[in-house]
Amino acid sequence: MARLHGFQKKELLSVYRNMVLTRRLDEKMMILIRQGKSFFHIACSGHEGAQLAAACNFKPGEDWFYPYYRDAALTIGLGVDSKDHLLAFLARNDDPISGGRQLPQHFSNESLRIVSQSSPTGTQFLHAVGSALTRKWEKKKEVVYVSSGEGTTSQGEFHEALNWASRQKLPVIFHIEDNSYAISVHISEQTSGGSVYSMVAGYQNLARYNVDGTDFFETNLAFQKAVERARKGIGPSVIVSNVVRLLPHSSSDDQRKYRLEEDLETDKKRDPILRFEEACVNGKIITEKEFDKIRNEVNNRVDEEAEWAEQQDHPPKSSALNYNYSPNSSPEETDFNEISEKVVMVDAINHALSEEMKARIADLSAYHSLFYSQSQIGHKVEEGAGYGFQDKESPLRPLIKIHPETGRPALLIGRHAHNIPGMDQDESRKLLDELLEFACQPPRTYEHQWQPGDVIAWDNRCLMHRARPYDHHNQARVMRHVRIAGDPESELAA
Ligand SMILES: [Mg+2]
Repeated sequence: MARLHGFQKKELLSVYRNMVLTRRLDEKMMILIRQGKSFFHIACSGHEGAQLAAACNFKPGEDWFYPYYRDAALTIGLGVDSKDHLLAFLARNDDPISGGRQLPQHFSNESLRIVSQSSPTGTQFLHAVGSALTRKWEKKKEVVYVSSGEGTTSQGEFHEALNWASRQKLPVIFHIEDNSYAISVHISEQTSGGSVYSMVAGYQNLARYNVDGTDFFETNLAFQKAVERARKGIGPSVIVSNVVRLLPHSSSDDQRKYRLEEDLETDKKRDPILRFEEACVNGKIITEKEFDKIRNEVNNRVDEEAEWAEQQDHPPKSSALNYNYSPNSSPEETDFNEISEKVVMVDAINHALSEEMKARIADLSAYHSLFYSQSQIGHKVEEGAGYGFQDKESPLRPLIKIHPETGRPALLIGRHAHNIPGMDQDESRKLLDELLEFACQPPRTYEHQWQPGDVIAWDNRCLMHRARPYDHHNQARVMRHVRIAGDPESELAA
């Protein structure tokens, strides 16, 4: 079967369809702005080739994406529906991103793992690196994509992110789409040395690629290599795609005020769509007629979809307060919690986190089984084994038990606890490990100089104990039993 730079014809046709679809969305959205039907737009035109090359190399739904406002083609390439772009742009009720609340071009998609960015530019870098760090900790083979324009690389977050990612060899790819302008400021005035590629030299473990981002095939090669090394755990990459900005920075901008006409004309000659068509026609894999057909289909499709989107409902007034908080948290105001002692900030933060954790685990239960805990440390259970080995269904017990007399809640977990219903196994194990770690913070033993008349009340519900082999001969056992000093009855209690 005929191929061009490794791509089959049907793959190339799909890339082309996505290129012209994104371009047509830009054109249509600008028309809708002029008609007063929306209020703001940031275009992708000129960046489509680089973004679709990126999209070809990730696994949608498995990898993670932290795009910026100009990445419409990337999202289309990953599988976002053009109708959803229009619903978001027109702020309709069925907009799956935010129900019509988010600023246009703040892309997100839960199932495709596309995470919405904040409007302050550059904030996405540290989010992406944090995400990549968790992928590494959890030994996942997932890769994280994060992007921005070249202007945003002046922000401190970019360099913090590069430092962390390089030091930890994180599976993250920084895609810097360099269209030479940070709004109206040319890169020669915005960036040290006039080149992001040169500026990021010196970070250990960081691979750098400088490509013609208007050339889909060249950019694709860079992403191929970067994704491969990220998935193998070798380290992060920066890909600087040199692209063109065919439309102004945003619908609020007019680039003719600060760019020369000849400069704009030069950019038009580097249009990634024209370059893609040229490469495919010269490679004799797609004809101009086939391209014309796709363009016409896409133009009609966008017109129809825009008309459909306009007919969809606006969000009702009664929904104004929806989506302010996660449905998984409780937004109710709680009583002001005053801590009487003066505490340092870090303790106050830990206190607040501990309250969050308490709320999270209040209604959870876990199965308890010695069979489980012993098997975790490699012990095989003999047939007919003695106390505690579960050969039947393990009991399900709450993580928190309330003391019947004092009303005091206590954490009731240990090495036997496993499989919290409603959570997948990894998540359950992680939470139980965190709780165990938290509960086992020093001091773990308490010493008391006994005096006649002292009383100890032993509440097994507050006891954390570990299921593990016990060395009876060499290891001191703590609190084997309870005595009340001077009381003959309890002195004899076992
Ligand atoms: Mg720029």
